[in-house]
Amino acid sequence: MYAYDEFDQAFVRERVRQFRGQVEKRLDGSLTEDEFKPLRLMNGLYLQLHAYMLRVAIPYGTLDSRKMRQLAMIAEKWDKGYGHFTTRQNIQFNWPKLKDVPDMLEALADVGMHAIQTSGNCVRNVTADHFAGAAADEIEDPRPTAELIRQWSTDHPEFQFLPRKFKIAITGAPNDRAVTKAHDIGIRMVRSEQGEPGYEIIVGGGLGRSPFIGKVLRDFLPRAHLLPYLEAILQVYNLSGRRDNKFKARIKILVHETGLEEIRDAVEATFERVLEEFEYPSDALISEIASHFEPPEFDNTQTLAFEEAQEADPLLRSFVETNVSQHKNPAYGIVTVSTKPVGGTPGDVTADQMRVIADLAERYGHDEIRISHEQNAVLPHVRKADIPAVHAALREAGLATANIGLVSDIIACPGMDYCALATARSIPIAQEIAERFHALKLEHEIGELKIKISGCINACGHHHVGHIGILGLDKAGVENYQVTLGGDATETMALGERAGPGFAAGELIPALERLVETYLDLRRDRSETFLAAYRRLGAAPFLAALYPEDERHAA
Ligand code: SF4
Repeated sequence: MYAYDEFDQAFVRERVRQFRGQVEKRLDGSLTEDEFKPLRLMNGLYLQLHAYMLRVAIPYGTLDSRKMRQLAMIAEKWDKGYGHFTTRQNIQFNWPKLKDVPDMLEALADVGMHAIQTSGNCVRNVTADHFAGAAADEIEDPRPTAELIRQWSTDHPEFQFLPRKFKIAITGAPNDRAVTKAHDIGIRMVRSEQGEPGYEIIVGGGLGRSPFIGKVLRDFLPRAHLLPYLEAILQVYNLSGRRDNKFKARIKILVHETGLEEIRDAVEATFERVLEEFEYPSDALISEIASHFEPPEFDNTQTLAFEEAQEADPLLRSFVETNVSQHKNPAYGIVTVSTKPVGGTPGDVTADQMRVIADLAERYGHDEIRISHEQNAVLPHVRKADIPAVHAALREAGLATANIGLVSDIIACPGMDYCALATARSIPIAQEIAERFHALKLEHEIGELKIKISGCINACGHHHVGHIGILGLDKAGVENYQVTLGGDATETMALGERAGPGFAAGELIPALERLVETYLDLRRDRSETFLAAYRRLGAAPFLAALYPEDERHAA
């Protein structure tokens, strides 16, 4: 795993020292909240509905047991004993006291972590495929490239005050698990016809008030040109992105209003100029960084014990079916640890659970952990022979819910429970959905069905790309939930179509039940997912299920 160099260490420590002084000034009243706000946001500290919230970056979702244990310590010592994993591979602490935040940042720095650029109009935490370095379908590990971008973008003097926040995601596999097409820049690792490694660069994707699917700006960018090309895109955006209207400031609007061709011309012209002056050879740096991401020494012994254990234990078999993915080494599996027990808060993990994950990573997982944008934790390298022991330990910790990709593996933003911008609750709705389908005992029968919920139009819960998306809104003081259908967050990305009028909270669950029953009735067989059935049949039968009283859909 990559460890901060001396430059990073010194930079992070200096920021903590500065912030400690700023907090002291806020506490003794010499800084007003308005004066303090930009300073705290530069250090990832928000003011939410009920308390401050500290957002800590987990670059490309990668951490080890030492970092995880430190997060557990921080949760216990300075928060309420848990942390919340977000859809951007960050962890949030929801209840810190302002006086403690410098100590929390100091504790993070001790393990090479920080909260810098988790807020503000700068390049945010670079995210990546959570199966990076392990997935069977991977062309190349995306993390060295992500780390290069992290180094380039951290404290970049020119890009600290962009028109708006800027999000970059990268995948090294053709199956996109990083939602690259919904980012300001999405990067896909590809090979040229001659086998040369490079990137497809996607630009202008994003969800929120105006959702857009990213468009291909360059279908092949040689590896050596990555940083100057990114620099060129950011320069064009910095110069031409709208600053007059916050809601039109993201690069997706610039691409949409200007047109892809014109943006491409501007970027290519800027790139020519940047390339001449650019001092850092991306490919050499990536190769150097890659030495920190060498795969662990795999034990290739295959045994029958794994199959036999599954035959003997139906709970293990069910867990393996949903929570274990194919590793590039056939003797290994990728274990996803669900943070979504039925009735739990998606993404919340207690300090004790963090320690269990850390212990398992150390003992069975080559000391590697990932956090996924779907708010789950991942042990990317577990020997198949060890999976029964890992499963048993997870069960004991309440972390063995076998629901990855199923109805209760819901992405939910914090909504009204925490977020100052929320117009409706998200977490309780996610909990009710999970509880209802659990009671119906239908979850495994339904198979893959991704439900995503946001508590306002900002779409942090990615509802636009949920197979079923739910957007909570306030309608004259009453929570109302709009349903979208047919969204897809992968390489075949689609934005969900709004189904019709929203539902009151009490009407939503029965409506979803009718929707899912219709799918079960109409699917060809168990292998046809909800999304595939929706694509084959179109919206009509599903709308008829949602709005049975509306005869227009009944045909
Ligand atoms: S979608 Fe809205 S309510 Fe939910 S976390 Fe984002 S800003 Fe807050």
